Amino acid sequence: MAATEPSSEVEAFISRPVHPMFIGAEMTESQSDASINVESPSDGRSLGTIGCADTNDIDRAVSAAKAAFTGPWSRLTPPERERHLRRVADLIERDGQLLAEIESIDNGKPIKKTSVIDAGVAARLAFNFAGWPTKIAGETPSVSAPGFFTYTRRESLGVVGAIIPWNYPLIHTAQKIMPALACGNTVILKPSEKASLVTLRMAELFAEADLPPGVVNIVTGGGKTGAAMSAHPGIDKLAFTGSVAAGQAVMRSAADTTKRLSLELGNKGANIVFPDADLDTAIPRSFGAAFGNTGQSCVAGSRLFVHVDIVDRVVGELIELAGAATIGHALDPSTTLGPIVDRIQMDSILRRIEHGVNEGATLRCGGDRLTDGSLDAGFFLAPAIFDQVDDSMDIAREEIFGPVLTVHPFTTEEEVIERANNTPYGLASAVWTGSAARAHRMAAALDTGVVWVNTFDMFDPAMPFGGHKRSGFGRDNGRDVIDMYTESKAVWVATT
Ligand code: NAD
Repeated sequence: MAATEPSSEVEAFISRPVHPMFIGAEMTESQSDASINVESPSDGRSLGTIGCADTNDIDRAVSAAKAAFTGPWSRLTPPERERHLRRVADLIERDGQLLAEIESIDNGKPIKKTSVIDAGVAARLAFNFAGWPTKIAGETPSVSAPGFFTYTRRESLGVVGAIIPWNYPLIHTAQKIMPALACGNTVILKPSEKASLVTLRMAELFAEADLPPGVVNIVTGGGKTGAAMSAHPGIDKLAFTGSVAAGQAVMRSAADTTKRLSLELGNKGANIVFPDADLDTAIPRSFGAAFGNTGQSCVAGSRLFVHVDIVDRVVGELIELAGAATIGHALDPSTTLGPIVDRIQMDSILRRIEHGVNEGATLRCGGDRLTDGSLDAGFFLAPAIFDQVDDSMDIAREEIFGPVLTVHPFTTEEEVIERANNTPYGLASAVWTGSAARAHRMAAALDTGVVWVNTFDMFDPAMPFGGHKRSGFGRDNGRDVIDMYTESKAVWVATT
C-alpha cells in the first residue's frame, strides 16, 4: 500500500457518492436540491458530496432535538446520562485512528498530527465531559432576609446549535457536543462545508452509542445553513466557532430571538521571545506556533516579537526550519506540513503575501505555491517569513490563517506589552523567558484569554479556552463551559 492510500474502512467511507446528514436517529439526505462537492486538498481526489440543509431541514432537526429534550433525554438520571456519554467516549477512543485518517484526507492536516493530537484530544474531551452530569450542582447562598431557605438550580437550556470551522473538526465536534449533552441539552451541530466528513462519521458513533433519537443531530451546508440555525426560534443557544465576520452575523441574527450565545472567533497571536529564554526550545516551538497545521490555526503565533539582541539568530534558525519542513500529502506519515484546505483559502493567503511585499515588508523565505511532482494536484504553500515588518502593516494586523509569519524586533518589556496588545484580537499569546517574575508579569499584562509561558498550544478539557476583545466571549472547556450550557434558577422557600 502506498504511503498515501487510505485504509480499507476509510476508503469505503470516503468513496460514498453522497454523505447524508444525521437527524433523529437516521442518516437522511437534505430536502434541498443544493449540494457541495467535497475534494481532498492533498491531491484533488473527489470525496463525494454533502447536502446544503435548508430551513425545512433545520425545522426537522429542531423538532427531533426538542422531542428528545422534553422526552427521553431529560428523564434520564445524571448517572444514566453519564453511562450514555461514556459509551460515546469509548467509541471515539476506539475509532481514533479511523477518524484521524478521515480528517487528514478531508482537511489536509498531516496524519502524524491527527492520529496523535486530534484523536487523543477528542477522546480526552469526551471522557472528561462524560463525567460531568453527576457533578453539576447549584448553591445554597446565605441571604440577609430571615425566614427563607434559598437555593439555586443549574438547569439545561434546551436545544443547543453548534457551528464549527474546518481546521479542527474532530476536536470541535467533541468539544461542542459532549459538554452540551453533559448539561442535559440536545444538540444540532453544523460542521464546516470545507470539512464535514469526520463529523458525519462521528454521527455513526452517536448512533452506535444508542443515544435516544434526536439527542444529537448533524446537519451539513455552508453559511446559509448556519444563518438558518442562528435565526431559528427553536434553537435556545448557539455555540459558534469561526471568523469574526461570521460571528458578528450570528450575533446580529441571534438578537431577534435573544438566543444565548458563545463565540470563539479569530486571532492574531503574539509570540514573544526574551533574550533570557532557552532559545534551543523557544525557536523550534515558535516555528511550530506559526506553521503548525500550516498556519491554519486560531491560536497561531503569527506575530513573533523577538528582542533585538537575538533577532538575527532567531530569524536565521526559523528560515532553516522552514527549509527543512517536509511538505506533502496529509496521509504520508513523514509529512510535517500539509496542504491549505482549498483553492479559495490558498488564493486568499497568496494575495495577502503579495500585499505584504507591496506594503514594504521583507519576505525572507517561502510564500509561493509548490507544484513539483504530485504537489501540483494539491494546494501547497512554502512557509513565508517576513521581517522588517511595521506593526501597522495589514500583514501584521489581519488574520491570514495560513503559513505566514511576521517578525517584530523589540527592546523593552513595557514596549512589547503595548505592541502585543495593540490588536483588536485577544485569543491567545505566548512568552518565552528564563525569569519567573517576568513570566507572571507578562501573563497578567497580555490581553488574551490564554497565555502560554515557555510552551505553546497547550490545551486540555480541564482548562478554559476562549477569547478577549473581538476574539469572542464565552468559554469552551473547563468548569466555565458548564455555565455556558446551563442557566441558574433562584428558588426562595419561606420557612416561617
Ligand atoms: P468561517 O467563519 O468562514 O466559518 C465557520 C463556520 O461558520 C462554518 O461552519 C461556516 O459554514 C459557518 N458560517 C459562515 N457564515 C455564517 C453565517 N453568516 N451564519 C452562520 N454560520 C456561518 O470560518 P472558517 O474559515 O471555517 O474558519 C477560520 C476562522 O475560524 C478563523 O478566523 C479562525 O481564527 C477561527 N477559529 C477560531 C477558533 C477559536 O476557538 N477561537 C478555533 C478555530 C478557528
